[in-house]
Amino acid sequence: MISRRTAMVAGGASVIVAAGGGVYLASRDKPEPPAPPSVDGQNHLLWRNWSGIAYAYPAVRSAPRDEAGVVAVLQTSKAPVRVAGAGHSFTALVPTDGALMTLDNIAGVSGWQGDEAVVWAGTRLGVLGPALAERGRAMANLPDINKQSLGGCLGTATHGTGATIQAIHGDVTALRLATVSGEVIECDARQNPDIFQAARVSLGALGVITQARLKTIANRNLHRRVWVEPLEEALAKAEERWAKHRNFEFYAVPFTGLAANISHDETDAQAKPRGPDTDSAFLEVLKQLRNLTRFSAPLRKSAAEALLGSAEPEEAIGQGWKLLSTERPVRFNEMEYHLPVENHLTALKEVVETIEAKRPDVFFPIEVRRIAADDVWLSPFQGGPRGSVAVHCHYKDDYDFLFELIQPIFLKYGGRPHWGKLHSLKARELALLYPNWNDFLEVRRRLDPDGRLLNPYLKELFGV
Ligand SMILES: Cc1cc2nc3c(=O)[nH]c(=O)nc-3n(C[C@H](O)[C@H](O)[C@H](O)COP(=O)(O)OP(=O)(O)OC[C@H]3O[C@@H](n4cnc5c(N)ncnc54)[C@H](O)[C@@H]3O)c2cc1C
Repeated sequence: MISRRTAMVAGGASVIVAAGGGVYLASRDKPEPPAPPSVDGQNHLLWRNWSGIAYAYPAVRSAPRDEAGVVAVLQTSKAPVRVAGAGHSFTALVPTDGALMTLDNIAGVSGWQGDEAVVWAGTRLGVLGPALAERGRAMANLPDINKQSLGGCLGTATHGTGATIQAIHGDVTALRLATVSGEVIECDARQNPDIFQAARVSLGALGVITQARLKTIANRNLHRRVWVEPLEEALAKAEERWAKHRNFEFYAVPFTGLAANISHDETDAQAKPRGPDTDSAFLEVLKQLRNLTRFSAPLRKSAAEALLGSAEPEEAIGQGWKLLSTERPVRFNEMEYHLPVENHLTALKEVVETIEAKRPDVFFPIEVRRIAADDVWLSPFQGGPRGSVAVHCHYKDDYDFLFELIQPIFLKYGGRPHWGKLHSLKARELALLYPNWNDFLEVRRRLDPDGRLLNPYLKELFGV
């Protein structure tokens, strides 16, 4: 997120902060949150999500090697039967005390139909990028990281940013879905179209997607630019930047008056590699400023402006799969809502104001993205483009305020939650947000009448 020069500034801040308040810092940095035991009373091994807040002790674990193996697990294993991707969701979609399945052994590109790639659902995005590039092709867009499985991305409507670019499920033209009845259903816009509308975003609640056919684009170089500027300026220019750039997002940095912008545009220019990752140093500075100055917002702001405000822009040129996703080594919990575009920046401003007024412990930048419309029944982008706002909390910090203070703002402005990120909505509220909610429930009941795929979280979500 910041240039090497800024990283040096960031390093300097650590020194200043350490010199000015090492003891203070040591007493303020929080201990590790308690970890659940690694086995339960019946010797079942712990499963835990990336951030650590969702966990379970599945009675049975399996890693089928083919579709027949997936079907066998779905039909015969102890319910609830859940499929995990990379475990990068924050909501309790995956936890089960029944059977947990991974598709890690059912991965890779299985073939091509013209420029559409037929991809096994266990494939991680980080593996898919280079595999498509071998044929001169690429995914149109990628999320912030590339650790997720394709099946997991479809499970929760995972997306990147770009006003004209859809979430990953928008590129799916056909699917194979293994169900608890033992069938493997092929679906696309013509064949089983209702299942296709439901399955492209389905939270692992209809069956296991074993394979998807994906539209791809030419694997062009992208020019990446990252620059810091006053938040006011970023807000004023955001709409024109979404219109201008292939991919554009910005991070509003609370308590600093600053924003970090990131754009990517196609280019024929030669590759210019990214420098080493400096995002963690940037976060560390923000955390230390929080620790040192949390009771003095003006001091925090002026220190941040002095340290980060004059950061030099970062530039890099390379293939999209190398630039669009980055590493996120600092763990966090997150709430992200997708808002009608007319309310996008208004909601963001209210979120920033609320955090600055009430939560001096927050230091993570707030991520602001744009996603194009699609028509998938449970897609947050169904029916119109959406602007997303994502609030992150360090994994050691309290995140209850996301539900108490931030979610009401998102709901007031017509937001729909990211399925994989924190929210507290249940069937009654969700039915009001999704015009095809009941159509989805009907397909779910048809494909899994006994609810073998439903864990407690999904039962509540669907009102079963
Ligand atoms: C550091 C970090 C960065 C992130 N960045 C972004 C981002 O930029 N954009 C964004 O939109 N999200 C982002 N996310 C959220 C993440 O992309 C989603 O939560 C995604 O679903 C995780 O994929 P996974 O493979 O880990 O799936 P899991 O979390 O393991 O599973 C997610 C859901 O998909 C279901 N599922 C998995 N495989 C299949 C299958 N084969 N068939 C049917 N259902 C299946 C699961 O049962 C579950 O319901 C981020 C998360 C983290 C931790």
